[in-house]
Amino acid sequence: MAQGYAEQWVNPERAGQLECLICHCVARDAVATQCCGQFLCLGCWEQCQGRSTTCPHCRQAPASADPANRDRREIQNLEIRCPNGCGATIALLAKERHMESGCTHRRVRCTDCGDDVVQKDLKNHRELHCAVLFEPCQVCGEKVRVGSMQAHMEARMTAEFQGTVATLAQEVSEQKAHVAQLTQELQGLKREFATSGSKDAAELKQELRDLKRDFRTSGSKDAAELKQELQLLKQGQAKLQAHLDSITGNYSASTVDTSRGDSFRPRYVRTATNCDLFPRVHLF
Ligand SMILES: [Zn+2]
Ligand SMILES: [Zn+2]
Ligand SMILES: [Zn+2]
Ligand SMILES: [Zn+2]
Ligand SMILES: [Zn+2]
Repeated sequence: MAQGYAEQWVNPERAGQLECLICHCVARDAVATQCCGQFLCLGCWEQCQGRSTTCPHCRQAPASADPANRDRREIQNLEIRCPNGCGATIALLAKERHMESGCTHRRVRCTDCGDDVVQKDLKNHRELHCAVLFEPCQVCGEKVRVGSMQAHMEARMTAEFQGTVATLAQEVSEQKAHVAQLTQELQGLKREFATSGSKDAAELKQELRDLKRDFRTSGSKDAAELKQELQLLKQGQAKLQAHLDSITGNYSASTVDTSRGDSFRPRYVRTATNCDLFPRVHLF
């Protein structure tokens, strides 16, 4: 472990000339050997002498060393940069004081909350972030600045109310959109219904026309058939009449049996209404 000073030297070249032979840091409590004037930390020198009385540089034995007082003063006045990175340049001898009280990057304890805070941030911490400035909100658990709890809770409730209103507004607009969609669908259905209704009506009309036409066609066909049948019947009637007339003529001329004493004879009577259609035979 290094006994000497390991710092960020402002003048590293000069610092290098004051290094300890053993630890290669700038000599702490520097001593110089009597034999060869070599430069060492007092601690490094004593460690060497504990193992051997020989000079660690020129091997003379027994070796001895004296405090290098002039160099000690120079070393104590060498400038270093603050190891905390505060940017300060200070003499080595002022380092401890700087680190304890002057350095703006040193960590200090907030006496209010006990937290370690970088010194330059302490004021800010005390004013804005220190735990004693806050208390937990009993509603939301958030840390709220002491004295502003009421405002916080009011703001929180307002926000919640506005959130609820916004949610409701959102729901209403969704419902509106839904209703609009349903209305549109309903209109579509109505339109479809109207179209299909009139289509059905048109179809029915057409069917009716077809039926009428069929009826006329078949009716007139039937009428023609009937007419033809009627003609045939008329012809048949004429033949029958002729036949009957011939029979009647023969009978009246030759076959009346007067011996029976009754007037049994067939009579052929024509009724006035049906005379053109059918012969009616009446037996008396
Ligand atoms: Zn040393
Ligand atoms: Zn020596
Ligand atoms: Zn500093
Ligand atoms: Zn604090
Ligand atoms: Zn709250």
